[in-house]
Amino acid sequence: MASNDTVIIVGGGWAGLSCAAELTRHGRHVTLLESARQLGGRARRVAFGEYPVDNGQHILLGAYTHTLQLLQTVGVNLATHIMRMPLQLHLHEQQRPAFVLTAPKLPAPLHLLAALLRAPGLTLSQRWTAIRFGQRFCRNNIILEKDLTALELLQHEKQDSRLVQLLWEPLCLAALNTSIDVASAEVFLQVLRDTFCRNRHDSDLLLPKTDLSALLPDHACEYIEQRGGRVELGQRVEELLIHQRQIHGVRCADSPRPASQVVLTIPPYAVLPLLKPIPALQDTTYNLANFTYEPICTIYVKYPDDVSADFPVQGFIGGLSQWLIDRRVSGLPGLMAVVISGPGPHMNLSHTELARQICAELTLAFPHWPAPDDVFVICEKRATFSCRSNINAIRPDNRTLVKGLWLAGDYTNTGYPATIEGAVQSGLRCARQIVADSL
Ligand SMILES: Cc1cc2nc3c(=O)[nH]c(=O)nc-3n(C[C@H](O)[C@H](O)[C@H](O)COP(=O)(O)OP(=O)(O)OC[C@H]3O[C@@H](n4cnc5c(N)ncnc54)[C@H](O)[C@@H]3O)c2cc1C
Repeated sequence: MASNDTVIIVGGGWAGLSCAAELTRHGRHVTLLESARQLGGRARRVAFGEYPVDNGQHILLGAYTHTLQLLQTVGVNLATHIMRMPLQLHLHEQQRPAFVLTAPKLPAPLHLLAALLRAPGLTLSQRWTAIRFGQRFCRNNIILEKDLTALELLQHEKQDSRLVQLLWEPLCLAALNTSIDVASAEVFLQVLRDTFCRNRHDSDLLLPKTDLSALLPDHACEYIEQRGGRVELGQRVEELLIHQRQIHGVRCADSPRPASQVVLTIPPYAVLPLLKPIPALQDTTYNLANFTYEPICTIYVKYPDDVSADFPVQGFIGGLSQWLIDRRVSGLPGLMAVVISGPGPHMNLSHTELARQICAELTLAFPHWPAPDDVFVICEKRATFSCRSNINAIRPDNRTLVKGLWLAGDYTNTGYPATIEGAVQSGLRCARQIVADSL
């Protein structure tokens, strides 16, 4: 049973775990309540037969500084858990290399500008317009009076359609998981600046060498429990106990849990029913109801162990497959993860048909590979919130108008798209405000 001094964290995804670990680091007592039987939320381990994979292939970036700091706090050895690769994008179109972006060892943003200058697949004039855009966003010379779509921004910056197709669209879709014609230019610019303009290593691609649960959730849980906190699984919070605009606790199916501080780190669609009965939070409820969601499908294809891809990460345009990640780096030789971000015709296919079409695309792209042994499809319909133009205007702050009630999660007001880094930043920020308030 939680006492009034305990902070209750609702949700054991990366936002909840980061908030709980940070409060623990500051000596606060926490109880984390997670409805599922497993921690990690959308970034967690699932089983594909004997293989520990993830409920969706994830890629992290060197710019995820808060995530990397958190991993170290809870005792993760970054060198043994993460493979770091300097920026390298290999894009194929109809089985042929179409575009390559390789960053040389130069300080940011020169590394990006030099990579663009020598990028095979672009004409000279495309290289110059891309470089000019890169200089403008790195120097903060692009001022948006109001949010636009990413496509409108790129057209305004004179990026021609082929350049958009080869470079900006795959980056935007991978980062925001939202089609470029509706995606927020403001959020896209923030991602571009954070990734390419501060430090060369920010644009490194980071691939976990373990499954995602073994990366953070397992370590974070141990860190919290060893310092006196509680992590309870199978505990769905069904009601918030509020009196006179002050939180007094939460109710799970079995019992009330008293607490003077409660942090909801669950997605907007799960927050909504909890906030709806609270008149003081009508505006927040209204905004949360306006969130929409985007899918991500991951198709894991298992080949014999000796099959490997030329590059750990490579992209495709013109078919269903968008990215191919060789899971050899996470100790699973022969296992390929094909990622499809955002909506599209693939969402109307059965898993069997989607698997068939993806395997056919892989056979065309890699004719020397043998037939796969097994395939596993996971489609998350609400993988991320839709990061549309003007989204930042409806994203809530951590603090609410109810005393002691807080919101965290990838959808809160971090300026980031729905990513692990956004989730972690929101959790850390929320924990620090709780600590600061109590000083
Ligand atoms: C397929 C896929 C691929 C992705 N790829 C990437 C990527 O490559 N890079 C990247 O950075 N990000 C990626 N993301 C996004 C990233 O996973 C999320 O942004 C991040 O995990 C969100 O964390 P969160 O803690 O905010 O929310 P969640 O992970 O959704 O955590 C919320 C938790 O709350 C629990 N919960 C819900 N309701 C209740 C309740 N009433 N009571 C108690 N518990 C409750 C849920 O079970 C869940 O565990 C991907 C996401 C998906 C799904």
